[in-house]
Amino acid sequence: MNTDRRRIIASMGSLAVASWLPIGVKAQNAMRESDMLIIGGGMAGAATAFQLARHGRDVTLVERGDIASEASGQNMGGLGGAGWGNTPDLQSYLTMGSLEIFKELQIDMGYDMEFRLSGSLTGIHTDEQHDFLEDRLLSLRSGGYDGELLTPKEARAIEPEVNLELAGYFYTPGRGQADPVRSTRAFADAARKAGASINTGQNVIAIVVRGTGGYSVRTESAEYICQTLVLATGSWCGPVGQMLGLRIPIMPIRGQMWATERLPPRFFQRISSAESSYTWSRDNGGNDSTPPYLTHKGDRRLTRHLYGRQRRNGEIIFGGDREDVGYNTKPDPLGIDVNKRHAAEVVPLVADLPIARTWAGLMPFSLDGSPIIGKIPLRDNLYIVSGLASSGFGRGPMAGKLAADYIHTGHMPHVLAEADPARCVTEVQ
Ligand SMILES: Cc1cc2nc3c(=O)[nH]c(=O)nc-3n(C[C@H](O)[C@H](O)[C@H](O)COP(=O)(O)OP(=O)(O)OC[C@H]3O[C@@H](n4cnc5c(N)ncnc54)[C@H](O)[C@@H]3O)c2cc1C
Repeated sequence: MNTDRRRIIASMGSLAVASWLPIGVKAQNAMRESDMLIIGGGMAGAATAFQLARHGRDVTLVERGDIASEASGQNMGGLGGAGWGNTPDLQSYLTMGSLEIFKELQIDMGYDMEFRLSGSLTGIHTDEQHDFLEDRLLSLRSGGYDGELLTPKEARAIEPEVNLELAGYFYTPGRGQADPVRSTRAFADAARKAGASINTGQNVIAIVVRGTGGYSVRTESAEYICQTLVLATGSWCGPVGQMLGLRIPIMPIRGQMWATERLPPRFFQRISSAESSYTWSRDNGGNDSTPPYLTHKGDRRLTRHLYGRQRRNGEIIFGGDREDVGYNTKPDPLGIDVNKRHAAEVVPLVADLPIARTWAGLMPFSLDGSPIIGKIPLRDNLYIVSGLASSGFGRGPMAGKLAADYIHTGHMPHVLAEADPARCVTEVQ
């Protein structure tokens, strides 16, 4: 028998269940029952809870920290996309559908999430990057998507701080920004008002498939009984999946950011750089053990990635690196320095601004780079909303709606076919 664990047989009323619990786990002191249970209080979980509660379902959410205490509260706050296109695919649904939901919460429901449709400017550093983006623009336009190539002077006219010396700028009007913590908490609050029970400080330590159907989910202080279980545990889908004997191929990828002191308004768009998309268009770096679209392979930097904006409180924030360093969330000062110099190439004013703070968080990257949203067929009534990688803040609201519609109706929305968990979730061998 594994020395770290012991088998317990617990009798609960007429029900007898068997489970594995870590040694030292306190006796359960509360039992709560609901039809549906969501684990994870990031954007994916909060958005799913909101939509399920709106459908009138009996739903409970458990989160081990506070709402938005991980990636959903630590990100840059970028959202939106290039439009719905002529034939909307999953990416169009997730980006543009989420944008509509952000608008609904902020404008119709009155949540101040600091949301605005700011547009986004991508700095183009070289002629090769310019040629690449010219081709991309043609293909975007033929698919019915938005975008525009601007000269540096045209870009300056809408964003006074951008560098006139670059080769040009790619403008995406349909991109926006919002405050990560305020937004994620708004979704959780809207879920609560629609009838969901939101429980923070609930670290899930064991999950048991009940003999009579459904699940018993144990935290350090309570037991939650449900018929349907939804995993929205972001970068922790791997370890939480293991509690069910499942291998969920989602890896924690560290993203890190830095911020200046608060300044009067200096720029208004979201700012990025074409360097990474140009590099990844030639080789996205993914293989059997590494997700695509990372900035590093081991210690080696493959490319520089950049995203940033000025927050309503005046801080200018930038980030970009995506590194596989396990669950390490300590920012790497060397990477921050590279990122700051990269940002200064696009908006020179940041070169002389001191860094006031840095932070890092973990992005849930699936091994193949695509979202994992839908029913896990290896267990009864088990769903997942995750794998939203570097854009789960902006894509999470619609991911939650598609998942909730699936759970509520029992029918998979057709756009979720490419996110089907059946393609990659397996039994632990
Ligand atoms: C630096 C950085 C910048 C980013 N910039 C952007 C951006 O500009 N735009 C964008 O769209 N996305 C961005 N992202 C990505 C985005 O933040 C994530 O894709 C998104 O937040 C993932 O949401 P989630 O709900 O799946 O995961 P999370 O927010 O990580 O939520 C998962 C939750 O599950 C909880 N949990 C885990 N295990 C357990 C357990 N055992 N018991 C109970 N609870 C548990 C965790 O505590 C956590 O709160 C960025 C990420 C980072 C780190």
